[in-house]
Amino acid sequence: MEENSLPEKSYDTIVVGGGVAGLTSAIYLARSGQNVLLIEKNKELGGLVNSFSRDGFHFEAGIRALENAGIIFPMLDDLNIQLEVVKSYVSVGIEDEIINIETIHDLLKYRDLLVKLFPESESEVVAVIKVIRKIMKHMEVLYGIENPAFKDLKKDRNFLFKKLLPWLPKFIFTVGKINRMNMPVEDYLKTIVKNPSLRDMVAQHFFKNTPAFFALSYFSLYLDYFYPKGGVGKLSEALKEKLLEFGGEIRSETTIVEVLAGACLVRDQNNLSYKYDQLIWASDLKTLYKITGTEGLLPGIQEKFESTKQTMLENRGGDSVFSLYLEVDEPLESFRRIAHGHFFYTPSKVGLGETHREELYGLLHNFGIVSREQLLSWLDRFIQLNTFEISIPGLKDPSLVPAGKTGMIISLLAEYDLFVEVRKAGWLSEFVTEMENRMIEVINASVYPMLKAHIVGRFSFTPLSIENRVGSSEGAIVGWSFQKTMPVVHKIQFSDRSVLTPIPSIYQAGQWAYSPAGMPMSILTGKLAADRIVKKMKARN
Ligand SMILES: Cc1cc2nc3c(=O)[nH]c(=O)nc-3n(C[C@H](O)[C@H](O)[C@H](O)COP(=O)(O)OP(=O)(O)OC[C@H]3O[C@@H](n4cnc5c(N)ncnc54)[C@H](O)[C@@H]3O)c2cc1C
Repeated sequence: MEENSLPEKSYDTIVVGGGVAGLTSAIYLARSGQNVLLIEKNKELGGLVNSFSRDGFHFEAGIRALENAGIIFPMLDDLNIQLEVVKSYVSVGIEDEIINIETIHDLLKYRDLLVKLFPESESEVVAVIKVIRKIMKHMEVLYGIENPAFKDLKKDRNFLFKKLLPWLPKFIFTVGKINRMNMPVEDYLKTIVKNPSLRDMVAQHFFKNTPAFFALSYFSLYLDYFYPKGGVGKLSEALKEKLLEFGGEIRSETTIVEVLAGACLVRDQNNLSYKYDQLIWASDLKTLYKITGTEGLLPGIQEKFESTKQTMLENRGGDSVFSLYLEVDEPLESFRRIAHGHFFYTPSKVGLGETHREELYGLLHNFGIVSREQLLSWLDRFIQLNTFEISIPGLKDPSLVPAGKTGMIISLLAEYDLFVEVRKAGWLSEFVTEMENRMIEVINASVYPMLKAHIVGRFSFTPLSIENRVGSSEGAIVGWSFQKTMPVVHKIQFSDRSVLTPIPSIYQAGQWAYSPAGMPMSILTGKLAADRIVKKMKARN
């Protein structure tokens, strides 16, 4: 840092990263009376919880609908935030079989769908459903009460004695069960399902090596999704308003490029510096470790920081996503007849097999000698065999589209390295167009036959767009990859420790701080980091 860059101002706590994790931390610190600054790289807040409009169509840039997970509604309650929401029902479909999931009993519909497609594997389907049902019971325990982090246990004795204390033994029992299902879902399914296509149908839309419990709990999560009227970005807007109401300060369009931990300073892209007493880093953790200088800290802390840094840098962000946005001159009703506005659809029951693993890794390994034709032939299969997450915001809130039209987002999990290689080879925009064309063809030929002829506008976001917008390593959307070692806390009973870094005045929060992550965990870690600081300050005074 240059000597002339005297700190702009000094704060009790600076929070870097204005996604939902950073917003949560900043709000709770401001509410406790702290002098807080939230610093965000982009103009708008919310990070991956963000909505935007184009040509009168409303879209989500990141997460398509929100999960309560016993966290979001308790937090909104606690902060007295009124958010108008609707249920975001999910449909699941394979080939011509589509089911709407509205209650837990629809698990039977899912069983019937799989049996219809794989009659030769009926007993294996029954085994999978049995496990999912068991996990749903565990989920009822996990999310069965409002998360205590958002309750005032001193004041709310009713909650403490009537809900929390009776819940704790069940929670401890459930945690034991969960921890026994931490193996990758692909491996777990191999122990009960021999049919590789059936295994793929159950698991191919999860991140590679997702822990079995987390993946198979999704049937419960489908029932948990809700959608704020006006789009998911309304949550981020409401959090921003709350932060300002509590007197928090926000600096957007400000990127932190250096942290001087010994001097308790952060520096932005314009060489302005800001002094903190405590810092919460609520964005990409590899970035924190790359840009932090430890001069002036105790040698023991420096050492610990260096070894954690090495582990962090050896790991990578998890799978990313490719999202195609379509503006369609066709009324919502045409789509409503087919499926709900949040739809996991697989056009072929064959399954991806090794297409997105060994085959892809082979192509990437030999990228210099792979012809465009070879790559596009792989892309054909990758798109035909994949599972798509299709979101139609207008089916959840019809005010989000021009009359008589439909906006939709079709996405699939995508490998960041592939887009890096194609960009290096100089044909990224052509490749993106090839991908878009294939996605439209496949969806048009299967589930929405009226689609192609009525598209009036289209664009897409790649893993590189995500990396660029929110600074996520490898374009990851839920933090660390499950394919390597996990450099952060990944056991629920230790989640409270997930916010600690080797430097006592620096905390971490958000999708990089705990695994498996996602929106609710990002919010929870944001709150846990704030709680740690509030407690520390109280102990000092
Ligand atoms: C397509 C998609 C679907 C998803 N679906 C689900 C789902 O179904 N369920 C679920 O739970 N989760 C889902 N997620 C993931 C979820 O949205 C994220 O995990 C969560 O929103 C992360 O919040 P965060 O605050 O931790 O991080 P982010 O949202 O990444 O926020 C980090 C913020 O820090 C800012 N920043 C970065 N670097 C700097 C810097 N140097 N200086 C200043 N600011 C900086 C960024 O601009 C960003 O605003 C999905 C995500 C996507 C993209």
